[in-house]
Amino acid sequence: MFNEKAQMMKGDKIRELQKEKMLKMVRYAHDNVPMYKRKFKEAGITPSDIKSIDDIHKIPFTVKDDLRDHYPYGILAVPKEKVVRFHASSGTTGTPTVVSYTRNDLDTWYDLMARTYNAAGVEPEDIVQNAYGYGLFTGGLGFHSGAEKLGCAVLPTATGNTKKQIKLMYDFQTNVLACTPSYAIYLSEAAENFGYKPAKDFNLRVGMFGAEPWSDEARASIQESFGLKAQDVYGMSELYGPGVAVECPKQNGLHIWGDEFYVETIDPISGEVLPEGEKGELVFTMLSREAMPLLRYRTKDIAVINYEECGCGRAHPRIMRIKGRSDDMLIIGGVNVFPSQIEAALLETEGIGEHYQIIVDRDVLDKLYVKAEVDRGHYESDEYDEEELLKRTSENITAVLNIRARVKLLEPGSIPRTVGKAKRVLDMREEHDRIEDV
Ligand SMILES: [Zn+2]
Repeated sequence: MFNEKAQMMKGDKIRELQKEKMLKMVRYAHDNVPMYKRKFKEAGITPSDIKSIDDIHKIPFTVKDDLRDHYPYGILAVPKEKVVRFHASSGTTGTPTVVSYTRNDLDTWYDLMARTYNAAGVEPEDIVQNAYGYGLFTGGLGFHSGAEKLGCAVLPTATGNTKKQIKLMYDFQTNVLACTPSYAIYLSEAAENFGYKPAKDFNLRVGMFGAEPWSDEARASIQESFGLKAQDVYGMSELYGPGVAVECPKQNGLHIWGDEFYVETIDPISGEVLPEGEKGELVFTMLSREAMPLLRYRTKDIAVINYEECGCGRAHPRIMRIKGRSDDMLIIGGVNVFPSQIEAALLETEGIGEHYQIIVDRDVLDKLYVKAEVDRGHYESDEYDEEELLKRTSENITAVLNIRARVKLLEPGSIPRTVGKAKRVLDMREEHDRIEDV
């Protein structure tokens, strides 16, 4: 087992280490990052006020805007000369969020990624096909370097070039596929179109899927089509990248590597820390980041944390699968709607395929439109009862959301396919608001 000591660390040892590292990190961030010195001062505290893990709630949150405000070099705690890597995520506002790494930060990240692969069931003998995007996005290099560190052979295919992707998957008899879940669905569909039977012709055993929320139904579909174990990987560039948390083969929550990350759950509106086991926004403190320490970083991801030891023997706390981001949540006619709920309803509807698009618009009232492709493979002939399928689809959506959706059925292949993160939600209301502003 890779870094067995860290992977199998007992709960009391994790807590002891968290306290020790946290107290050091709080002082380090305060002394080396002007932004933290200012935040502490504004909150009327000093590092000496943080004596235990429970004192951490006294420290103000760090949010994405704090990173944007420090463009281009980010929240640096070291001289620029000590930085060996930058990554950036594109922001909707135009200013990217930049993250920086020292040599030690990269070593820590790659160790986390190697553990992440290993805990998910990947072994050093495996061939890993890495179809995440290489570049400023942390997915490509993160999944690449972690697999190498574990001892795997990496095929750095990156995203796109689907035909070659599938040929290499077949010729090399790749064991592990690393990509976004939506691209995995696309790949299996494309492989079938090229005449392959993915579960039989390919040799995939484990899928390392992350960078976007996906439903249990999407997981079941990927597992069945490729005959692999589809493992959920969690992370974000602010927290090194991927490798913050991962599912073990029990597939019952994602283990957060507690020796490197301290997690809290808060009420996203009031900011109040919630008791263990309550659903809320995840907030992370990095315990050994050199270049860019982050204290109490708000992720906007909504989940429940389970602190019980897992059946796999790991005591690292588990994120019970991320069902949506507070960012992604749509408020339609006053009702909170997560796109993943609509996805779940569609996947439960027999005769509907995996590709869909959600459009929200407004004339006087908010309106929800769902475009979904018909699963032709489900029907024996070209004929199907369109009215019946429309009725069943919108009933299934209404059953989940309690609001009515206007459903449009499309032929397979009509919805544009993406290779990176899926753009499945179009909120036209923002467009109108902008026009009205002018
Ligand atoms: Zn486990």
